[in-house]
Amino acid sequence: MTIIDNVNINAIFRRGHTPDRNAVLDILARARELKGVGREEALTLLSVSDEDLLQELFETARWIKGEIYGNRLVLFAPLYISNLCENDCAYCAFRKANTGLVRRALSQDEIARETAALMAQGQKRLLLVAGESYNEDGLDYVFKSIDTIYSVKSDKGNIRRINVNIAPLSVEEFKRLREHNIGTYQLFQETYHEPTYRRLHPRGPKADYRYRLESMDRAFEAGLGDVGIGVLFGLYDWRYEILALLSHIEHLENKFGVGPHTISIPRLEPAFGAPLSYTPPHAVSDDDFKKIIAVLRIAVPYTGIILSTRENAAMRREAFELGVSQISAGSRTNPGGYSLGEEPVEPGAAANDCQFSLGDTRSMREVVLDIVQHGHIPSFCTACYRLGRVGKDFMDLAKPGLIKHNCLPNAILTFAEYLGDFADEKLRSKGFAMIERMIDSDLQNENLRKRVRENLAQIRGGKRDIYV
Ligand code: SAM
Ligand code: SF4
Repeated sequence: MTIIDNVNINAIFRRGHTPDRNAVLDILARARELKGVGREEALTLLSVSDEDLLQELFETARWIKGEIYGNRLVLFAPLYISNLCENDCAYCAFRKANTGLVRRALSQDEIARETAALMAQGQKRLLLVAGESYNEDGLDYVFKSIDTIYSVKSDKGNIRRINVNIAPLSVEEFKRLREHNIGTYQLFQETYHEPTYRRLHPRGPKADYRYRLESMDRAFEAGLGDVGIGVLFGLYDWRYEILALLSHIEHLENKFGVGPHTISIPRLEPAFGAPLSYTPPHAVSDDDFKKIIAVLRIAVPYTGIILSTRENAAMRREAFELGVSQISAGSRTNPGGYSLGEEPVEPGAAANDCQFSLGDTRSMREVVLDIVQHGHIPSFCTACYRLGRVGKDFMDLAKPGLIKHNCLPNAILTFAEYLGDFADEKLRSKGFAMIERMIDSDLQNENLRKRVRENLAQIRGGKRDIYV
């Protein structure tokens, strides 16, 4: 089965796209029906350069973001368990040829310490990340690590959802991964453009383009509910990448009745010992990056968009408005980086044990305060996954607009927990004021308002982990 419909993508490209004003306005008007747009229409939107039209495009994306996600932003942090790697990705510091990198695979005790350090910041959702080579335990090392993270408890609770970003697995291996209660399995194709992919991944298991491309099919076949896809922007023409990504989504929807739960949109960042990362062959400008986010929001309204701390604070603020729904905060990309207590290196610099440099080096607390000051409510919700509302079940609720009636109350309740357990006075008073305003203006009926107020009283009284 064709996953990336290159014949169609190339045909769309060849026709060229000087967008006609009325055609763009027509697409934007239809986008407000919240049914997404096709590849051809997406390329028309990606080609918009006229300032007026661009503002219309952004306004539509903002409107869709508001309709579906309101002002919620889900927070998480990556936990790098190992930087050992068999591959030689030209852009990554963990690549095998990088002999200058300080290598380590954390022990289970170290992973428990990292988890405790992240829990002490208030994190409830983690993304486990690893290079493609595990210690002598092989893949069991990853499974043990997941179990270790879930097992760490403190008086303020525990990690409630672990997503994983690890190398592709076989169907049998995915089945074993599923037994460890993961949330989303994430994997980025990096570039969908096969000749470029082959050039940048010359050695190791990752050199197999097709095996990577078919990973999400295998994950679904193994019964995983939620998968996350992505592109590493900067490797090839971003217009092609978006069309190919939409083609991948269409393939999954046609074959499995459900698309990806999330899309990640990393841009290439400087990485120690990976010269290509300093001069991306197809660098994506800030303006084009904003357009990418807006067009994705319009094209696949119900798919979460994840933005990491690769981006700086100013870009992140704009991205939240345009469609991003999940963000990492306070991140480190070196194994052991949280419990070592080291400051991250300056933005743009690349340390010799990190995967890449960070654009946003602020602490979790600073990010949370900033989010609130810009009118967004941080959410630590994990309810859907814990209630089994995943994959198609999630989309069946999301598409008619029903899921948001759970999401906002859960955002409020999990944020209230965070405020009670981790916030200083300033944040606490701003946060609870925001919660009060939202209960009055954004919850849809009196019953729900009453229920949320009762739950909040329970949280103030010390009860935790309440969700609807
Ligand atoms: N090793 C596995 C793999 O490659 O799929 C999973 C983890 S890998 C550490 C996670 C992601 O980091 C990669 O998929 C890639 O998109 C991203 N990445 C690698 N080098 C990067 C860089 N220099 N800047 C930004 N992101 C990068
Ligand atoms: Fe290894 Fe993943 Fe980095 Fe490639 S991107 S070198 S596979 S860690």
